[in-house]
This record gives sequence, C-alpha cells and structure tokens, in this order.
Amino acid sequence: MLCKYAIFLLLNLFLMTGCTTAPPAPLVPPGEPLAPAEAAPVVAPEPEAPTEPAKKVYLTFDDGPNSYYTGLVLDVLKEYDIKASFAVLGCNIDKNPDVFKKILDEGHGIVNHSYSHDYKNIYSNPQAFLADLEACNESIARIRGNGVKIFRAPGGPSKLDRETFELLEQNGYISVSWNVTSADTDPGGASPEQIIANVQNGIIRMESFEKAPIVLMHDGTEINRSKNPPGSAVANYIRNRESIVAALPEIIEFLMARNYTFALVDENTPPAW
Ligand SMILES: [Zn+2]
Repeated sequence: MLCKYAIFLLLNLFLMTGCTTAPPAPLVPPGEPLAPAEAAPVVAPEPEAPTEPAKKVYLTFDDGPNSYYTGLVLDVLKEYDIKASFAVLGCNIDKNPDVFKKILDEGHGIVNHSYSHDYKNIYSNPQAFLADLEACNESIARIRGNGVKIFRAPGGPSKLDRETFELLEQNGYISVSWNVTSADTDPGGASPEQIIANVQNGIIRMESFEKAPIVLMHDGTEINRSKNPPGSAVANYIRNRESIVAALPEIIEFLMARNYTFALVDENTPPAW
C-alpha cells in the first residue's frame, strides 16, 4: 500500500516537472509592482468644463463725444484696460472729431445715436428718424470710413412706432436698448453713491433674470461748462457727468469682482429684454 502510494507520488512529480516543455508562468508575488510596460497608462485629467458661460456686461455711454467728459471716461476705461461702447451723436462728432478719433483709436465700440437727438424732429415721422440716423452715419463715416447699423433711439426704443421700426429694419438697422440705468440724467443731479447703487442694483436684478447687463450711462452732449448758476439745469447736468466719472471705477471693480467680461455692443448683443 505504501509502495503504491510512493509510485503515485513519483509519477505525479514526473508529470509536473519532466513532461512539460513550456516553462511555468512566472509568478508575481502579491504586492509586487507590475512591470512598467504593463502598468495602467497615466491619463491626464480632463480639463474641467467651465461651470458657466462667460458673463458679459456692456457698458454704454450716450450723447457724446464731449470735449471734456468723454476724455475723462476714456482715461478710466484705459486705467482698467476695458472696453465700452459709445452711442454718439453726429452733431457732437462734427464738433469734436478728435475726441471721436480717440474713442476709435482706443478700441471702443460705436453706436449710432442719431445726428441731432432732437425729439421734435426725429419722432415727427419714420423718414425723419431714418434721415437723422443716416446723417449721423455720414459724420461717423467721414472719420471712420464707414457708418454703423447698430443704433440706440434717443429716449429708448419705446419712442419708435411699428412703422418706424419696419423702415429701419428694411434699411438694415439694429436697435440696442439698455436694461440697467445709472439714472445719471436725474434732473436734480445724482451723486456718485446714488449712481453706484443704481448700477449695482440693476446688475443684481439682471443676474436674477439671467440677462446680460447693458448699462446706460452718459458722457454727455457738448455743453458750455462755464457760468452755470448752482441748481440750474446745466449745473445739474454737469453734476451728473462728474458723478459718472467719479462712480466709474467702483462700478468697474464691482463687475470685475463678479467675473464679468466687458463686451462691445454689436449685432450679436442679446436684446436688453
Ligand atoms: Zn441720448
């Protein structure tokens, strides 16, 4: 019995060792690192997709170019290295062509805001409105080489009737409005603090609607800045212009802190409402 068992063991040993031509597969001791060739490739992590699209804000300044205030606004914009759009009047381009050139040279956007801003004339009939836009474009084109089809109606688009809108559309014009106002046309004169609060509240409101803020401010029409008694309409107008210039850095810093990019008004600007 013992002898039979010994033969069985020997036979098994022979079968396991002597009769196999293929070498036994090497064993990798547990915990041993794999050879480099067999290691799982190192995959670079996918760059994280931005959690939200770029937030755009449109700063706009109406009624210039102004021989005094436009330059001050441009200086603040340059200091922060940001761009804005100027809704210009043809009559003020003709008075201040060098200021208009400066706006262009510094890379800001241009919007046609009519030649005269004269409500009585431009809102008398659709053709009068179109003619005033075309006159503004002639002033723009004399310096820039071509006009612009983006326009902002003086007083806002609610002043335009359907017939005028249709005529403008036929002529390729695109309206741009606003959805945040600085209220810097307050006839009583606004302080920088009021203007900052107006804009900040407006921005927060637009965020709740998920709308890109289009901020209305004024560098202002050309005026005689001398000899204006305190409390007069022109004195308050001047106070508003000074308040805008003073408020602008804090408005810009507020927007930068909220990760806005400063975009130029063009045909791709989303509607204000
Ligand atoms: Zn205006």
